[in-house]
Amino acid sequence: ASAHGGLYSRDEPLVSLAGAARSLLLGSRSSWLAEFYASWCGHCQQFKPTWSALARDVQDWRPAIYTAVLDCADESNSDTCGEFGILGYPTVKFFRAFAEKPSDGIRFQAHNVKDLREKIIDHLEAQKESPPPACPPLEPISTNELEQFFVNNNEEYLAVIFEKSKIYMGREVALDMVQFEGIAVRRVVEDQTDLVEKFKVSMFPSGFLLCRNGSMSEIALEEQTRASYTKFLRSLPGVKRANYPLIGWSETVHSDPTDVTKTVDRSKVYMADLESALHYSLRVEVARFTTLEGDRLKALYGYVNVLRKFFPARPYLRTLLNTLYSWLRLRWKTKISYKDFEDVLDNKKQSQKAVLSSDVNYVGCQGSKSEYRGFPCSVWTLFHTLTVQASEAAAQGRGKLAAKEVLYTMRNYVSQFFGCEECATHFESMAAESIVLVRNSDEAILWLWSRHNQVNKRLAGAESEDPKFPKVQWPTPEFCPLCQVTQEDGTVTWDLTSVLPFLKTHFSKNNIALDYLV
Ligand code: FAD
Repeated sequence: ASAHGGLYSRDEPLVSLAGAARSLLLGSRSSWLAEFYASWCGHCQQFKPTWSALARDVQDWRPAIYTAVLDCADESNSDTCGEFGILGYPTVKFFRAFAEKPSDGIRFQAHNVKDLREKIIDHLEAQKESPPPACPPLEPISTNELEQFFVNNNEEYLAVIFEKSKIYMGREVALDMVQFEGIAVRRVVEDQTDLVEKFKVSMFPSGFLLCRNGSMSEIALEEQTRASYTKFLRSLPGVKRANYPLIGWSETVHSDPTDVTKTVDRSKVYMADLESALHYSLRVEVARFTTLEGDRLKALYGYVNVLRKFFPARPYLRTLLNTLYSWLRLRWKTKISYKDFEDVLDNKKQSQKAVLSSDVNYVGCQGSKSEYRGFPCSVWTLFHTLTVQASEAAAQGRGKLAAKEVLYTMRNYVSQFFGCEECATHFESMAAESIVLVRNSDEAILWLWSRHNQVNKRLAGAESEDPKFPKVQWPTPEFCPLCQVTQEDGTVTWDLTSVLPFLKTHFSKNNIALDYLV
């Protein structure tokens, strides 16, 4: 079963690539623009309205181009996301028609519908050798082509849009008419002086309708916009929508695990969340890299080392972490394949049952919907727990700087592996600014706590916020009555002499609940 429901629904004009990415994207008669995302990633949630709007905006460009989605957080898609080289979310890739291999996908960097749409046109236009058969010609029509148009084509009408060369409207209207028969739309650009003079054009844009019977008229519209041209052209007598068979959403529906609501005590830390963080980081995030070497392998080695030392593991899991550590210790200066690492993770050599859970199971981090909370919540919980466990070890004389080591490990983990790229960038800038100022374990615990609150402040009210779990400055008075102090002028400050012991208690072994473990 899927651990995630996905962000998009089957009634949107999108194609789900789940289980079919290769067969749909490669060797296709259409071009594809695919968004690879992770449902837990806040930036993907923020990008969702843009992507849905783009899909609606260009739905009539099908089958010249399709828009598609794949949820890389769903473990059944991880191999595909790896194969298509997806390292961060969201990643948008364009596949030309007849693309041959996953690496033919070209990455798009665009953040709004207009830029995305215009880039689609640029890429379709660049596909001179093997354009999608359904795509109309997008280059400006030549004088000769125009004169011979009705000799060489069957259409009843030719609409010609005169515009400045940087403008996309003419090509957008041409694509809007892809599914319509009886008409062709072509553009003429400003510097094609012979045609501009022949049609006596003085205003850009302006449009003309040429008919097979030889008549010609200027297209008079209240507004010279894509929408008014499209509407007008679709209403012409004899112009009608052809019955193209279109590919639709095609995924089998996964059950949504959040249907099962768990009873949660918010004053507890749940082992199920901590183990889910481990599972997802080691089996999904790290798995995106087929081979590991250099700083990335070093980051993994550091992470496993910190887990082995400070993760409050149940006995079997502790054995596994030690095994992983010993295996990496011999190899962290070389190059490894994820496959070999996975074999150790699966305990292949020790005929024991694998001891790391095989799916995520969020309890304290369960969101009110599958796209909320989950993995990023479990990452925070894990690293807060590790700083506190490390400081306990330090208090018992095991490594004075242990909690600082946890912070650096988290920094490296986030920058090398955390799939939410913008989160990683934000976190890295906070770390670069102040992590060196941390001198001891107490300061390490407080540093992570205060940076987390900084993130909470920035994200309060954002699209990714679970309405049932609003972002607050934590701990609230409900959990720690003495932590926040209201000054006479109404401002709220923190009493660190209360915050520190609160954090140490909250993330201590005794406060970890074992409910809902499998
Ligand atoms: P979370 O913020 O994930 O917190 C989990 C739990 O930790 C809370 O339920 C609470 O019990 C406890 N907690 C809350 N605050 C604190 C604190 N100050 N100290 C200790 N414990 C606390 N999302 C974005 O959209 N943009 C970003 O730039 C971004 N950056 C991120 C950077 C990192 C390193 C991580 C791990 C996550 C980032 N996220 C970002 C995700 C975001 O911070 C949340 O994790 C996510 O939105 C889920 O929120 P949540 O409600 O489960 O609470």
